[in-house]
Amino acid sequence: MDKQTLSFQAEVKQILHLVTHSLYSNKEIFLRELVSNASDACDKLRFEALDKAELYEDAPNLEIRVWFDEQARTITIRDNGIGMSAEEAVAHLGTIAKSGTREFMAKLEGDQKKDANLIGQFGVGFYSGFIVADRLTVETRRAGAAPGEGVRWSSEGSGDFEVETIERAQRGTDVILHLRDGEEEFLSAWKLKSIIGKYSDHISLPVLMPQQKWDEEKKEQVTTDQWEPVNKAAALWTRAKSDITDAQYQEFYKQISYDQEAPLAYTHNRVEGRTEYTQLLYVPAKAPFDLWNRDKRGGVKLYVKRVFIMDDAEALMPVYLRFVKGVIDSADLPLNVSRELLQESRDVKAIREGCTKRVLAMLEDVAQSDDPGQKDKYAEFWRQFGQVLKEGIGEDHANRERLSKLYRFASTQADEGVSFEDYVKRMKEGQEAIYYVTADTLSTAKNSPQLEIFRKKGIEVLLLIDRVDEWMLSHLYEFDGKPLTSVAKGGVDLGQLQDEEEKKAADAVAEAFKPVLERLKAALKDRAKDVRTTARLVDSAACIVVDDGDMSAHLARMLKQAGQTAPKSLPILEVNPEHALVKRLDGDARFDDLAQILFDQALLAEGGQLEDPAAYVQRVTRLLTPQG
Ligand code: ADP
Ligand code: MG
Repeated sequence: MDKQTLSFQAEVKQILHLVTHSLYSNKEIFLRELVSNASDACDKLRFEALDKAELYEDAPNLEIRVWFDEQARTITIRDNGIGMSAEEAVAHLGTIAKSGTREFMAKLEGDQKKDANLIGQFGVGFYSGFIVADRLTVETRRAGAAPGEGVRWSSEGSGDFEVETIERAQRGTDVILHLRDGEEEFLSAWKLKSIIGKYSDHISLPVLMPQQKWDEEKKEQVTTDQWEPVNKAAALWTRAKSDITDAQYQEFYKQISYDQEAPLAYTHNRVEGRTEYTQLLYVPAKAPFDLWNRDKRGGVKLYVKRVFIMDDAEALMPVYLRFVKGVIDSADLPLNVSRELLQESRDVKAIREGCTKRVLAMLEDVAQSDDPGQKDKYAEFWRQFGQVLKEGIGEDHANRERLSKLYRFASTQADEGVSFEDYVKRMKEGQEAIYYVTADTLSTAKNSPQLEIFRKKGIEVLLLIDRVDEWMLSHLYEFDGKPLTSVAKGGVDLGQLQDEEEKKAADAVAEAFKPVLERLKAALKDRAKDVRTTARLVDSAACIVVDDGDMSAHLARMLKQAGQTAPKSLPILEVNPEHALVKRLDGDARFDDLAQILFDQALLAEGGQLEDPAAYVQRVTRLLTPQG
């Protein structure tokens, strides 16, 4: 192929513009990104060579070499990994395969830090070379291709790049950075070594640099033609726990997650038994931007006997733990395992169960810690990931109880952080149920009329305001033997919390009220399946409840918003016989208007929408207008 000039994809141009103009801090990470790509390329070769050994050609030892040339002002990163064909070079280095570019740019534009660290997170690490270089040259040859099929790719990092065919004897890739003016600090063996030590120590292949030697005559360090490893070259998780520092664990986390924040917790174990594996798992402190992306797979990498098999091995973690990052290295799975096979493997099932338990244990440690710092961390974790963890209740029966203990809610006592255990400890004497109300927002929940009697009696009510709460409730019926009971469903039966006298008084009022109730029922016959008096209300005139077996109004609304049809069942209107408005109903000439208004207001108070808001406004206006 003759030399061709091609244009970068529009997204790449935008990224490049930002990279070259905006990233001032942590410039050194370009080396981490390029070494990481070199390491990925070697992993890919090892994987493809599993059933095609000839791909190793005559160089079976995979390695990465890094060197610099002071005169030419270049740094070169060489790997003998899989390499790229011309088509691959054009596709991989000229376009962006992954989604998330826009989020990346938004983050960069919003973030004052302008931290180069961000770049790896979005699958655009290669372009970080342009932070320090004003030209990148890539020379590469795909493993197995003829020497005449080498490729040179080159760009100044603005609008376009060049590609041409070259002769290249060795397989793999050289990335050559032509440094910008002012970036001379990277032309130093010591500097490069220290960056590699900092970011790439755990890379499982040797990263080699030319050995430096003291020259007695010249009185300076000179570069020899001996190559020496500058990293430990043992995959971090294969090393003994006692040999790994906290800082190394943290750095490894950053490398695999591209999260700048320290993880909430991590766990590293060798598991022996029916199936043997090593797990190094991290729980992040902050949610990634794509947590809610349904297509997103898990964050766990699968290795088999230290050979990288696949990223995002979702079969290894339940969906509700999709935020967990880390590595699982199995001693038993076959090296040619596929995603399909993973789904069916009994070993994988055992690994998933083991890892799930580990992750829950990590979370429990943080949640139950007496250390206020840890408690705050858990609160933050819950804000970030609580909704995802709630999905687990339907997905993971075996761990239902452990999960429910990790859950936190708002309640009438605290705006957040209330666990079922806290609630149970605070239950009143004689209280048998855990009470909750569901609503769209905290303030709707808090002001819900159904809470009035509970407030009066000092009984705590959980305020469930997450979208997933209704789903959670369809799988979780009780905690610690105490039923979860909606304050907006069925009759209020406060059990022993209501004394005999109160019950008797309530019955008497209901009896006396019968004629009015009959008229209300008639007036509202298309809207309410029943109208009854209640002891639930203290300050409000009326509220809406549903029958025990019926879907809550909140859930019905959510289904409707999601475009699904909710089964149509009429709610029940409950009225407060002590309320002045209700008392005056009897004998009022505007009975029908008042009945409709009572119903509409009860619906509004509970976060519902009126079917005919104009009619409501007209009725209220009529009421407010002085009669001639
Ligand atoms: P990512 O590594 O997240 O895929 P990068 O921007 O770092 O994103 O790299 C883009 C792509 O370019 C890689 O996925 C890979 O296909 C290709 N690539 C980059 N460096 C190399 C290399 N040294 N050898 C082979 N392919 C490479
Ligand atoms: Mg990369």
